[in-house]
Amino acid sequence: MRRKVTIVLPAYNEEASFELLKERMGRVLAENPDYDWEFLMVNDGSTDNTLQQMMRLHREDAGHWNYVDLSRNFGKEAAMLAGFDYARGDALIVMDIDMQHPVEVIPEMLRWWEEGYDDVYAQRRSSRESWFKRRSSRWYYRLLQRSTRVPIQQNTGDFRLLDRSCIDALRRLRETERNTKGLYSWIGFRKKGVYYEQLERQTGRSKWSVMQLIDLAINGLTSYTVAPLRMATILGVSVSLIAFLYLIYIIIKTVLYGDPVAGYPTLMVTILFMGGVQLLSLGIIGEYLGKVFMESKGRPVYLVESYNGVKDGDKENGVKDGDKGMVR
Ligand code: UDP
Ligand code: MG
Repeated sequence: MRRKVTIVLPAYNEEASFELLKERMGRVLAENPDYDWEFLMVNDGSTDNTLQQMMRLHREDAGHWNYVDLSRNFGKEAAMLAGFDYARGDALIVMDIDMQHPVEVIPEMLRWWEEGYDDVYAQRRSSRESWFKRRSSRWYYRLLQRSTRVPIQQNTGDFRLLDRSCIDALRRLRETERNTKGLYSWIGFRKKGVYYEQLERQTGRSKWSVMQLIDLAINGLTSYTVAPLRMATILGVSVSLIAFLYLIYIIIKTVLYGDPVAGYPTLMVTILFMGGVQLLSLGIIGEYLGKVFMESKGRPVYLVESYNGVKDGDKENGVKDGDKGMVR
């Protein structure tokens, strides 16, 4: 039986990418004729003509091109979940619509899928990023891996093939503070890495600002582990212990030699250091508290304006009471 594979394409202000997209997806169709293909575009609240381009592709070839139109910009993570929810395939492949992910890797992914792997992730072989960005990302991964028992795949993005079992697992994880990269690791299943060379962005420009990257990094850490909370505790305990020893030392010194009122620098350093530790710990607690706050509202991850132009929003959206994430 022919199996269906969905390519999920989240898009935010990508009107310029569509010519290339059409050409590349045409190649996927031509080079992998053994599968039924679905190209599922998710419009993540674009403010340019992205939606019009999607409508055009759907009009031209409704058998292959579908689109989900979200009610506003929810971010790539949410857009991908929408893709998981609406994908019809036995497997799906997530790709950036700017086509930085080469379609040449797809046959290899399919081959491993046929071999029985559930999660075939693409690993960037060489990175075009700056030395600083490469370094910081390496340190970050090391930190992340130290803080958790779940194995983390390095140098992977969202370019991957997921079997239906993985898709259904991911659809059950409906946290609003999403870090999909961490979720891929968390669900487990049989994983296999393939290598690829990341291409330059052809049109438009990257939407990540430095602040967003910092946000992503903190998010990744705090949605993955409570290790920073533990760190704050350990730091608090060690500082208190040192302070206590120092206290004994001062008492003994005062008793033996008297107290000639000195020690302004010691006082200053201690106060500043303690203040710093307290602020850091408060900040860490705040990060987690914020997550609890967002999550406790139980809001849907995204809202749908239309699917292929039809307004059926919440019906398929996985936000019905009682069956969160388990629709269809
Ligand atoms: N994207 C999205 N919503 C957003 C930001 C980005 O759906 O809020 C999509 C974007 O259209 C692209 C993919 O996510 O298909 C990757 O974005 P981008 O190319 O800006 O990131 P980079 O390649 O620089 O990591
Ligand atoms: Mg890109």
